[in-house]
This record gives sequence, structure tokens and C-alpha cells, in this order.
Amino acid sequence: MTATFGEYGGRYVPETLIPALDELTEAWDVAREDASFWDELDELGRTYAGRPTPLTRADRFAPATRLYLKREDLLHTGAHKLNNTLGQAVLAQRLGKRRIVAETGAGQHGVATASVCARFGLECVVYMGAEDMRRQQPNVERMGLLGAEVRAVEFGTRTLKEATSEAIRDWIENVETTHYLIGSCVGPAPYPELVRELQAVIGREAREQVLEAEGRLPDAVLACVGGGSNAIGMFAGFLDDVGVELFGVEAAGAASLSSGRAAVLHGARSSVLADEDGQVADAHSISAGLDYPGVGPEHAFLRDSGRVRYVTATDEEALAAFRRLAETEGIVPALEPAHALARVDDVQSELVVVCLSGRGDKDLAEALRALGS
Ligand SMILES: *Cc1c(COP(=O)(O)O)cnc(C)c1O
Repeated sequence: MTATFGEYGGRYVPETLIPALDELTEAWDVAREDASFWDELDELGRTYAGRPTPLTRADRFAPATRLYLKREDLLHTGAHKLNNTLGQAVLAQRLGKRRIVAETGAGQHGVATASVCARFGLECVVYMGAEDMRRQQPNVERMGLLGAEVRAVEFGTRTLKEATSEAIRDWIENVETTHYLIGSCVGPAPYPELVRELQAVIGREAREQVLEAEGRLPDAVLACVGGGSNAIGMFAGFLDDVGVELFGVEAAGAASLSSGRAAVLHGARSSVLADEDGQVADAHSISAGLDYPGVGPEHAFLRDSGRVRYVTATDEEALAAFRRLAETEGIVPALEPAHALARVDDVQSELVVVCLSGRGDKDLAEALRALGS
């Protein structure tokens, strides 16, 4: 078992998946050194996805701070997920795989996956918990329109954890023809590193844009952490800048880093919400995208090294920030990045950048119901 990030990462998978992971690692090692791979992604980013996304000053939200928002909510399909799905779809084509399986929680990764499969003419199967299908009906309908088959997962909590297990089971059965398009920087190696590199465009652009706007680097950078992909992509741009403080914000009821322990989940060793026997606990968050008991292994490493600080926000704090951004800036954020916005006042830095990972259309009904009660 090769551990990729200190004691975290590795490949805790059935023997039958090792050849597929080796094949993916090989294709990725070639692609990352190949200028034509990055040229193709740049072109797709510009002409299909809407990159670069803007950096927006948010004075009314935080009058005491110079706050900037990195606007991944303006990316095609409404969240940062597309950076990853485009990259993996190009890799799948290089592998000659014409069938894609994916898991989805809120449906954002499912929609991003279904979109790229339509764009490249690939068969697409998305596993989704039955409870999440009920909560996120519009995204289920979008995936259907995009030509994907959505398969309901009816066991356990009927949410993201079980959907991920089912997607992995499908992959094991169909590994010859199928690429597993994982939605965050989780899973067995090489996925955590692959997804980080595909999302690193967020941090690269944000660093350039804040230098352009302010002539200096920010004091602090914040991002919400579910599986951790928007955060790791954002942080990647600033990890070497020792003067920039980095903050990951978890949902208080799904705080794998703040209150988890070292354990294996979905193919990698990381920090997991689990009891002393390693039995995985259920996560609870108003935001379906953060409602996952695990987190990418690199975040566990960055926590232990002290380079990134991980804090939490409650459902109520996230809802208050959701409303405050709408009222002060005319931007309705997804509930996930509303967790990061909820911690801006505590950072007490002069110049702050927050990754606004997605837009809030999908959350409107849920948020309005919660705010009304
Ligand atoms: C999926 C999602 C997240 C959580 O996933 P990460 O891998 O932690 O980024 C956060 N924000 C939005 C808008 C999402 O759709």
C-alpha cells in the first residue's frame, strides 16, 4: 500500500481494481507532462466552461475586510465540479473507456459528469442515494435530460456514502470498459492527486487575480471542505506562500478533520468520522455537498503538518451567511461555500479571499424552508 500523503492516502481496494488504478496512473503520468493535454483542457475551460472565472470584491458583505470571492459559482453547471469532470473525461478518452460511472450527493457532480458525457458522447451511469434524489429532484431531472441514467441507492442512510460504495461496486464489475469518475479528492491513489491538479486552476487564477487587483498576496484564504476538492484546488495556488494563512471550513455535523480519527473509507486512509472500532458514523449537514463522513487524505496531512487550519460552521451560521451574501452582494451562494463565508469575520485579516464554490439555486427551497422556521 503506497501512502501518498504521509500516513494518509494509499490504495485500500480489492485486488481486481489494482490493474485499473495502475492504468489510470500511467495515463495520468503521461498526460500531466503532455502540453497537448493541458492545451485541450485550457480550450475547453475557455470555450465551454467559462474560465477564467472572475474575482469579485465584496465590500458590503464584510465592510471591515478587503474581501474577494473566487467565482466558481459562475462556471458552467454552477459549481467547481466541472474542472474535474472535464479533465477526467479527456483522460477516459485516452484510456479508450466509453462508459463512465459516478456517485453524486447533491447532484452537482452528477450534473457535471452527465454534461461532459453528453459533450464527448460517453455512456453515463450516476449512483445517487434515494434520500438525496428526493431532496434534489431538479438535479435528477437535469441528469436525465443530459442523457445519464440515474440509479437510486436504497440502503443505509441513502445518501452520498452509500452512492459512492455502489459506484465502486459497479466499477469493479465493469472495470474493462468503465472509468470511475470520482467527484472529489478522495478514493484510492492516484485520484486524490489527480483531482487536486485538475482543480488547481482555481488557486492559480485566484493568486494571479488578487496580485493584479491588490499588488500583493492575501493574508488569508478560506474554502469549504466536503470531500475537499474546491479547497485543495484553491489552496494549491498558495501552499508555497508561507505568509498566506489557509482555512478549511467543515460542516459542524460532518467534521471529518476537526473531530474524526484515522481510518480507511472508500479506498484510502484519511481522517474519518468513526468510532473506536473504525465503524463509520453518519454525517449530518443541511448542505448535501458537505454531508460526507470522510475527506481527502491530503487534507488530513495538511492538518497534521499545521499548514492549514480546519474549523467548523453550523447549519445556522451557514444559513445566516447565505442570506447575508444575497442581501449585501446580490449573489445567492450554494450552502456549501456559505460555511466558509460564515467564518470570514473570525479571521480578522485585512485581505481575504474566499472560494465561492457554487451557486445556490439548488438550495433555494431547502434554505428558505430552514430560514422560515
Ligand atoms: C460538491 C460541492 C462541494 C463539496 O465538495 P468538495 O470536494 O469539498 O469541494 C462544495 N461546494 C459546492 C458548490 C459543491 O457542489
